[in-house]
Amino acid sequence: MKYISTRSKNSEELTSAEAILKGLASDGGLLVPDMIPKVKLKDIKALVDMRYEARAVDILSRFLTDYTQDELNECAELAYDWFDIHDRVRLAIMSDKPENAKKIQANKNNVKAILELWHGPTSAFKDMALQMLPQLMRVALKKTGESREILILVATSGDTGKAALAGFADVPQTKVMVFYPDGGVSKIQRLQMVTQIGKNVNVTAVKGNFDDCQNGVKKIFNDEEIARQLNESNVKLSSANSINWGRLVPQIVYYFAAYADLIQAKEINVGDFVNITVPTGNFGNILAAYYAKKMGLPVDKLICASNINNILTDFFKTGVYDRNRSFFKTITPSMDILISSNLERLLYHETNDPELIKKLMSDLNTTGRYEISADLKKKLGKIFYADYAAEDETRVTLAAMLKDKNYLIDTHTAVALSVASKYVHKTKDTKPMIIASTASAYKFAPAVLTAIGEDISKLSEFAQLDKLNKISGVMIPKGLANLKTAKILHEDVCEGENMAEKVLAFAKN
Ligand SMILES: *Cc1c(COP(=O)(O)O)cnc(C)c1O
Repeated sequence: MKYISTRSKNSEELTSAEAILKGLASDGGLLVPDMIPKVKLKDIKALVDMRYEARAVDILSRFLTDYTQDELNECAELAYDWFDIHDRVRLAIMSDKPENAKKIQANKNNVKAILELWHGPTSAFKDMALQMLPQLMRVALKKTGESREILILVATSGDTGKAALAGFADVPQTKVMVFYPDGGVSKIQRLQMVTQIGKNVNVTAVKGNFDDCQNGVKKIFNDEEIARQLNESNVKLSSANSINWGRLVPQIVYYFAAYADLIQAKEINVGDFVNITVPTGNFGNILAAYYAKKMGLPVDKLICASNINNILTDFFKTGVYDRNRSFFKTITPSMDILISSNLERLLYHETNDPELIKKLMSDLNTTGRYEISADLKKKLGKIFYADYAAEDETRVTLAAMLKDKNYLIDTHTAVALSVASKYVHKTKDTKPMIIASTASAYKFAPAVLTAIGEDISKLSEFAQLDKLNKISGVMIPKGLANLKTAKILHEDVCEGENMAEKVLAFAKN
């Protein structure tokens, strides 16, 4: 299998190892597989009795055809060797069957399965990919004969930084450096980052906001003199952002895993169709579900759930993608996005027309908008359903889940649940629904507590975690509980214009 650009017909053809190291195609397009591998129902059935790591290897090996089975086995073992639990992802099933009802009440005909993707080290679903990407990169360095060290640069508004640090910490031949806005992340988010252990990690606060961090990082990436100096130190820059194929492909796995778990729980039979709802920002997670569907996983509708930054809802409804609109800061910050980069991959696969994609992306760049044909819009409408949850709907859904079902969810998951309920209400589609749960409620404790009517004005961050624990009975994730006593290891603060200096210094040490 080769990887090609979404934006040109005669693009370079890369192996998956090359694509993962390169990140973006040379013409600025995204790298996509030149075909989508098919699975049969018997392949899906075979997943039922496998543990998560083996399921991951099975799915990854269909895309990463230049990796050996042994290499993928090792990657999966190292990536998902998190906690002392066997279920890397956990499926909370709301069902009519008493044995499956767990602590959740029966749900009349309509099976809902909440796919908890946040049992990793940083309590958010980005771990699913950011634990695997460094392993895939490490092997890719070997396979391509790259002898330099890779330095991953990350600008973060909070969550991605920690997930990248946790993934790359002590991975051979890699270094990771994270810039975050000084005073611009929550106290918990800051603590998660500045306590990160590892010989190859650096965390630096930047005086400024997230844009300053991001612009600083972009400038460093585009600076040839810096590249030259880094090369002298035998270091090459790279990024871990969500358009990298190595971040996308591990996400395809958990949709197969969820389906296999539903078979195992006897909620569905092999071949039964399900729907999937995903709380969406950059369109990475839901695109992974799309790949799973294209591969042959019996999925009917993919339901794209947004917050009030509902550019994707409008796009699927009207065929117009228009970023010329107000931007809202919401209680689901990881979905506060106006450019959903991975949508480009979907448009490519549904058209196979790189010239068109090039034009649409150029329109987006120059005018902030693009429009797709009525035919293409109709085609997408057969696969996707899109809607959004207003802030109040999100809060009400979250509170109702805890009150009625005794099940704690975070705000992002509440957006997905709210949209899924509206979908079912409107369409009367009662196929089993898988809902991607993307973060532990503890990651967004202030918003979660407020949604359930608690006054948090007098509570410190850690008192908030304790309060949520008292109310819900759900254990505080270890990684967050440990922050209380963890040693602060990274206290460096710099001006935006000194970021390059910091990078060069870290590269040399
Ligand atoms: C990143 C993130 C999302 C959005 O996922 P995309 O792949 O960007 O669409 C949703 N919820 C949480 C908690 C996230 O961290």
